[in-house]
Amino acid sequence: MITTTITESEFEDLKVGGTEVNYFIVCPRKLWLYAHRLQLESSSDRVGLGKLLHEEAYPREQKHELLIDSLIKIDVMEGSGKVVEVKHSQGIKKAGQLQVLYYLYYLKRKGLTGLTGELRFPRQRRTESVELTASEEQDVEHTLREVEKVRQLPMPPAAEWKGTCRSCAYAEFCWG
Ligand code: SF4
Repeated sequence: MITTTITESEFEDLKVGGTEVNYFIVCPRKLWLYAHRLQLESSSDRVGLGKLLHEEAYPREQKHELLIDSLIKIDVMEGSGKVVEVKHSQGIKKAGQLQVLYYLYYLKRKGLTGLTGELRFPRQRRTESVELTASEEQDVEHTLREVEKVRQLPMPPAAEWKGTCRSCAYAEFCWG
């Protein structure tokens, strides 16, 4: 039984992809642009690097890629039942953590409990465990509501320069 403050019908309205949750932490403007289909990601070298790292981050392990509700794609490792997300940098670790927590939360709502999460940083040869506690669930739910507020804005939030702008696919759009 899920103990949550978000009802099923509210969740149907609030659910988004993991990328949106990640971008909410990275930059609300980036979230808005992405959510409004200004998706420049495939042209970004940094994104290409992320995809390559993702492919190479599972040298000997078997994984199942779950596509749920045609919305979120989750890698679950066989045997351990771990939900794994690969990141090329630890720069905005909180964004990756929240993304994995959202996946665990989403799966829990689907009745898949007892899973754990793991962030992998292959370039730094580091991994980090992620666990969905009651307080993390509240954090995820709060984030989903905030993501929705940003998505509903009539215009994107103003650009604010930050370190991540250098490697952002929207840098030219914001600062060019
Ligand atoms: S370039 Fe900077 S301000 Fe613009 S969307 Fe990317 S992170 Fe946000």
